[in-house]
Amino acid sequence: NALGQPRKPNWLRVKLPVGKEYAKVRSIVDEYKLHTICESGNCPNMGECWGAGTATFMILGNVCTRSCSFCAVATGRPNEYDQDEPRRVAEAIKLMGVKHAVITSVNRDELKDRGAAIWHETVKQVKLMSPTTTIETLIPDVKGTWDALITMISPGQEVVSHNMETVKELYRRVRPQAKYDRSLEQIRRTKEYGQRTKTGIMLGLGETREQVYQAMDDLAANGCDILTLGQYLQPTKMHLEVAEFIHPDLFEHYREEGLKRGIKYVESGPLVRSSYHAERHVNV
Ligand code: SF4
Ligand code: SF4
Repeated sequence: NALGQPRKPNWLRVKLPVGKEYAKVRSIVDEYKLHTICESGNCPNMGECWGAGTATFMILGNVCTRSCSFCAVATGRPNEYDQDEPRRVAEAIKLMGVKHAVITSVNRDELKDRGAAIWHETVKQVKLMSPTTTIETLIPDVKGTWDALITMISPGQEVVSHNMETVKELYRRVRPQAKYDRSLEQIRRTKEYGQRTKTGIMLGLGETREQVYQAMDDLAANGCDILTLGQYLQPTKMHLEVAEFIHPDLFEHYREEGLKRGIKYVESGPLVRSSYHAERHVNV
C-alpha cells in the first residue's frame, strides 16, 4: 500500500464484538474496575472470546515499566499497588462463570518482588472462590529474581506461561528490556519446579525460518510444553511495523516442525494469541 507496508490479508478478518455474553463481560470488567489485555492489547479476537464469556485479566495495573515495541500497553512509572485487586479478579471470574481463567500482568520492575505477592494472592483467591476453575498465569520476566518466580508459580495454577515473543536475533528491537537467555531460563526453572510450561512467539516481525526453528529447539531443550505462534499485528502507527503477513500454510508447517522438535503441543495460526483456546492446554 501507500505506506509501503503489506496489506492485511482476508484471513485476518474477524467478527465484530456484539451479543449478550459480550455485554455481560463488558459490564463485569467495568464494575470491578479490572483491566484486560484483550482491550489494552487491542486483540482482534475480542468478539469471539468475550462473546464466549471469557477474557484475559491483566493485574498489577495498566501501566508497565517496560516499552516493548509491539505492545499497546502504556509505559510509565506505575503508582498503583492495589491490594484489593486479587479479590475483585476472583469475584469477577466467579460471576462470569469462567471454566478456565487466563491471568496476566504488566511488568513491575520497580517492585522488589516484581509483583509476586499480588500474583500469588490472585491465584489463591480465584481457586478459593471457584475451586473447579482451572487457571493459566501468563507471568512477566522476573529479571532473574528466582524467589519471586517461585512465589508466582506456586499457588496452584495449572499452566504457567511466559512469552518469548520473538526470536533471539530480534530481541533488541522488539523486547529491549528483556533477554532471550534469561526468559529461556525462567521457563526451564518453571519446568524444574514441576509446572506445565507454555510460551508464545509472534511471527511477521522479520524473523527467518531458521531463527524460528532455533527458537523451537531452544524451547524444547528448556522444557517448554506448549507453544503458541500467531501473526504480529501493529496496534498503532507508533508501534513496530509488520514485516510480513505469514500465510496460514506456513503456520501449519511451523506447527508440525514444533512437534517434530519435541514440543508437546503447538497452536499455530494467524489469529492465535497466547490466551487463545487456552482451555485446551490444561491437559497437555
Ligand atoms: Fe482476550 Fe486472549 Fe481472547 Fe485476545 S485471544 S480476546 S487477549 S482472551
Ligand atoms: Fe507490554 Fe508486557 Fe512489554 Fe509491558 S512487558 S510493554 S505489558 S509486552
